Amino acid sequence: MRARRTTTRWASGAPEVTLPETNQELVPAGEVELTTPLAHIEGVHPVLAADLRALGLGNVGRLIAHIPMRHEREEAEAPIAELTAGAVVSTRGEITATKVAGYGRKRRFEAVLHDGVERLDLIWFNAPWLQGKLNPGDRVRVQGKARAHKGGLQIANAAWELIADEGAEPDERDERLRPVYPASERVSSRKIEALIERLASRALTLIEDHLDEGFRRERELPELREAYRILHAPASEAEAGNGRRRLIYDELLMLQLGVAMKRAHLRRTLKAPALRMDDEVDTRIRALFPYTLTPGQDKVAGEIAADLSSDIPTNRLIQGDVGSGKTLVALYAMLMGVASGKQAALMAPTEILAEQHAESIGEILGRSERAREQGVSIALLTGTMGEADRASVLARAEAGEVDLLVGTHALLTERVKFKDLAVVIIDEQHRFGVHQRASLRAKGTVGESGETVTPHVLVMTATPIPRTLAITEFGDLDVSTIDGLPPGRTPIETRVVGVEDREKVYEYVRTRLDKGEQAYVVAPAIDSGQSVGADLRDVRALTKELEEGPLEGLRVAALHGRLKRATRERVMGRFRAGLIDVLVATTVIEVGVDVANATVMVVEHAERFGLAQLHQLRGRVGRGAAASLCVLIGETTTQDAARRLEVMAQTSSGFVLAEKDMEIRGPGELFGSRQSGIAPFRVADPRRDRELLDMARRDAIAWIDEAPTLDRAEDALARRRLMHAHGEALGLGDVG
Ligand code: ADP
Ligand code: MG
Repeated sequence: MRARRTTTRWASGAPEVTLPETNQELVPAGEVELTTPLAHIEGVHPVLAADLRALGLGNVGRLIAHIPMRHEREEAEAPIAELTAGAVVSTRGEITATKVAGYGRKRRFEAVLHDGVERLDLIWFNAPWLQGKLNPGDRVRVQGKARAHKGGLQIANAAWELIADEGAEPDERDERLRPVYPASERVSSRKIEALIERLASRALTLIEDHLDEGFRRERELPELREAYRILHAPASEAEAGNGRRRLIYDELLMLQLGVAMKRAHLRRTLKAPALRMDDEVDTRIRALFPYTLTPGQDKVAGEIAADLSSDIPTNRLIQGDVGSGKTLVALYAMLMGVASGKQAALMAPTEILAEQHAESIGEILGRSERAREQGVSIALLTGTMGEADRASVLARAEAGEVDLLVGTHALLTERVKFKDLAVVIIDEQHRFGVHQRASLRAKGTVGESGETVTPHVLVMTATPIPRTLAITEFGDLDVSTIDGLPPGRTPIETRVVGVEDREKVYEYVRTRLDKGEQAYVVAPAIDSGQSVGADLRDVRALTKELEEGPLEGLRVAALHGRLKRATRERVMGRFRAGLIDVLVATTVIEVGVDVANATVMVVEHAERFGLAQLHQLRGRVGRGAAASLCVLIGETTTQDAARRLEVMAQTSSGFVLAEKDMEIRGPGELFGSRQSGIAPFRVADPRRDRELLDMARRDAIAWIDEAPTLDRAEDALARRRLMHAHGEALGLGDVG
């Protein structure tokens, strides 16, 4: 049986340091508080304290919270004579000689270790800095893989530590787990370990738990101080895992508590206008639509109607794959606002999309006799429109003469005021940050009885938020999903080809265009002037190449964000009207552009795009009944790129793609989660820790249900820790 050495380790191993002259009264290790600065502790050298500070470990509490990244199995020690080549071994002895050998990058540090009977050669590659750290006469303990060397044994790059205690013999010869801490060049993991060992016996007793015993027992979670104890000095992997589990749970719980608390707070203090919804309104809205809603749209429209007819501010995410018909659902919500005599706003991430939304919504409304009678008015507001137009739109919005305002993030500026804004839609949410949602929400007004009146907010996305993220950063959103696509769509065929097939691709494109169909060609840049040496087909060069080469005689036009708005609108208008055959564009057409007759999409340098982006691009075709084709021309020099493109060919589901994208790239890239301001997890990984995440979420919701502001005495500690962790990022300062 393996003996636990925890207690003996705590007691020994303190590095001997000479105390500097100082005025500070030093605290003995046995009397520290969690807030005691490490620099004020007896036996902690000021240099070490400063180095630890640089690692963010300023006081005892921080040090104890500094948990190991992993544990390494430490082999039982044996005399050098008993070691065998090929095994990971551990031994101790005295350094009898050292030298630095070799030149430049090949410099290595060599040492000879002797235990009185036998010698062992030690070598560290690329480590000339060991010179002066390991000196002849030092007693050290080393561990590493032994190999045969010149008739004896050698260990390369051994883990080592000085043995401070001269007389100590390796009396306990069992193996054990040793913590490996995040360290720095100046402070080794071993030094951190030694200090934690010295302070833990006292410090751990000071750690209070914010979860009570019954709560912990039900969830089989160790007490907090026990979790730290077994993480710093576990008897087994399982024990360490148990300690880690507690800290992961805590981390997830704190975020979920914050999200739940904020949500409860918003529900208490904010009111939204309860919009009128009955059969008459519903029928009137649907009568305006050119299509019957698909079952998926219908379900979500129902959820929206329920939300918007309540005075609890809606915060709902509508996810639906590219082409699932989110615009119509958004329009349903906006018209509900109009039916109650209020205003609605729709925000799109690009001017082109905003322009298109304004146009297509205008068309839908214009189609209806009744809308004209009712005089639903729509206006467009973008960043680049002329001052006079802009001023007029602003004035009309403020006077309540604009019912539906469509725009880019220009809608977020201070100058935009509404008379009575009831519904806000944010299209293609993934292009915006979280804060923008909050800032539109702030467009509310103060109601008659002093409460803040805020609009209902719906955010739409085609790039679904993976469930794991949905319940972290986006935890305050309700989620609706539009399943299925409108009828009559033929699935898009996707082909991945190499550059060597470009010519054939455009030959084929030509045959489709000759039949009267239209195509998009997408390139990653407008002009590759700056990227010296990069063999990049940019929009300008490509337009010219196609016009003069493979697509000669066809109408080719370029579209990108640097064109003047009027030019862009003209080009889009002509493409929509079928007066342009091929649109060569940047990703400005990534979102929203909707031309049913466009059936071919060619993406040049496809390897440069992310999966979500390619999926959005592909979604520009397949919008009519005709069979559509998407060709990804890629130079798949890396494995990741090849994998990404293959996945595109295999699935047409945005949901599958989003999960794959996350697998390949990690979750950080999605949804501007970095902009959210929420501190990244230290120990938790929501993808790995799904079960704990679900548990933490359930627990947090139940907890906040019982104590919305955590103001009960028994919640004080949890509340303090929550505020400390997320108070600022989640804006919880004014809660309760
Ligand atoms: P997305 O979800 O990608 O924003 P859109 O709202 O742009 O999708 O809709 C895609 C296309 O489907 C548009 O051309 C739209 O007119 C059409 N569409 C939307 N809803 C329906 C429906 N219920 N029946 C038929 N076509 C529809
Ligand atoms: Mg859309």
